Amino acid sequence: MKAQKELYFKGLLQKEGWLENVRVDLDDEGKILNICPDIKHDTASGFAIPGFQNAHSHAFQYAMAGLAEYHRTGAAADDFWSWRTAMYDLALSISPEELESIATMLYAEMLRHGYTSVAEFHYLHHDPDGKPYSDLSEMGSRLIAAAKKTGIRITLVPMFYQTGGFGLPPTEKQRRFLSSSPDDYFKLLEATEKATTSYEGASSGIGLHSLRAGSTDAIKEICRTYKKDRPFHIHLSEQLKEIEDCFAYYGKRPVAWFSEQVALDSNFHLVHATHLDDSELKTIAGSGANVVICPSTEGNLGDGLFRFREYMDLKGNWSIGTDSHVGLNPLEELRILDYGQRLISHKRNTFVTPESGDSGLNAITMAWESGRTAMGASIESFFKKGEPFDAVVMKSESPLITTASTKYLCNTFLYSADVSDMEGTIVNGNWKVKSGNLPEQDNIQAYFKDTLLKLGTRK
Ligand SMILES: [Zn+2]
Repeated sequence: MKAQKELYFKGLLQKEGWLENVRVDLDDEGKILNICPDIKHDTASGFAIPGFQNAHSHAFQYAMAGLAEYHRTGAAADDFWSWRTAMYDLALSISPEELESIATMLYAEMLRHGYTSVAEFHYLHHDPDGKPYSDLSEMGSRLIAAAKKTGIRITLVPMFYQTGGFGLPPTEKQRRFLSSSPDDYFKLLEATEKATTSYEGASSGIGLHSLRAGSTDAIKEICRTYKKDRPFHIHLSEQLKEIEDCFAYYGKRPVAWFSEQVALDSNFHLVHATHLDDSELKTIAGSGANVVICPSTEGNLGDGLFRFREYMDLKGNWSIGTDSHVGLNPLEELRILDYGQRLISHKRNTFVTPESGDSGLNAITMAWESGRTAMGASIESFFKKGEPFDAVVMKSESPLITTASTKYLCNTFLYSADVSDMEGTIVNGNWKVKSGNLPEQDNIQAYFKDTLLKLGTRK
C-alpha cells in the first residue's frame, strides 16, 4: 500500500532501544505501514517515544484541583475522608454540559503533557436528584464527546457503585453514582458500549468502585458474569480505614478477599493497592494483575507509599494514573514514584531490573505496557506495522537533549524534562498538540473558565 503520510524523526524509541533518523510511513487511517531508520531529513522532528497511558482518571475532579488545600487551624487534621466530602459537594452540582467542558480542558491538558490515552473511571452516572438520565450513559457520552473534541483515546469504565460502606446503605450524597443491582449496572454498561460507537478512539471497560461500594452478593455476581474481553478496574486497599472495615466485615484484607472471588490475571487493574501485606503483594505479582499507581494524588491525599521496590523484585506489573488531577505530567508522576522509594530505601535503583539498569527506559516501558492493557490495547511493540501511530515527541534542540547520546536520552527526559521540552503529541498519525497547544486551545480554555465561574466553587 502507498503511504498517505510520511513523518520524520531524529530518533524513535523501541523497546530494544533507539532507531536514529527515522521515516514513519502511515496509511490514510494513521496506521503504521513502515518504519525506516537511517533516512536523514532536513525538517525532521525531535525524539518520538510512545504516548503515555493515563490508566486512572476521574475527570470532574479536575475542577477542584487546589480547592482542598486550605486547612482549618486548630481543627482535627484533614485526611482523605474530609477531601471526599468536598469532592461529593462538587459531584452533586455538575451538569452534563459542565462535565463535558471540564473533561475537554482536562483531556487537552493531558495531550499537552504527552498522554495519548486515558482510562476514565466514571461514577457520576445520574442527574443531581439521583434519577437516571433518559440515555443511561448521558454523562459517559459527554466524556467521550470531550475525548473526541481533543483527539485523546478514551477507555470509558463505568463503575458499579451500590453501597455506602461494608454492609451499609448508600448515603444521600452518593445518589448520582448508584446502581441498585448488577442487572442495573449491566444496562448502564450496555448504554456505555453504545456510546463508544460515536468515536473511533473510544472503548469500554468494566469497573467496581471498591469493595466498600458493593454488597457481597453483587460483587460476587459481577465477578462471575462479567465479559472477559475487556479490562476490569477496581480501587483496592487505598485507605487504612478501608482495610480495617474490610477485615471487620469479611475477616480478610481487601486483596486477600477479592482474589478469592475472581481469578486475577493481566486483565485486572487494581488502583492504588497502597496497603498490602506480604501475601497480598505476592498474590498480585504472581497473578499478572496490574497495579495502577497514582503518585501525585496518593501524595496529595496522604494515602501512603506503595511497596514498589518489593513489587518490582516480584516482577509485578504497574501503570500510572492522574486520578484527581492535582498533577498532569507523566514525567512528574514517574519521578514522584521513584523519589518516594529512594527516600524510604536510601537507594537510587527504583526502576532497575536484573536485565537493565536504564531507569528511564524501564519506567517508560513498564508504565506503557500495563497502561496499554488498562485500555484493552496490545503491548507487543511501542511502534509496530498495522498499529496506529501514537507518540509524544521531545524537542531535539533542548540543550540537555541535543547534547545527550542515545544512551542518556530516556533518563534525560525522565529526570530533567518538562512540558516545555515537548515538541508535541501525535495520535493516530496526526499532531494533536504542536508547539505547546491544541489548535482549539483558546476556545477550550474560555469554555472551561465560564464553567468554573458558573459552578462558583472556586470563590
Ligand atoms: Zn480513583
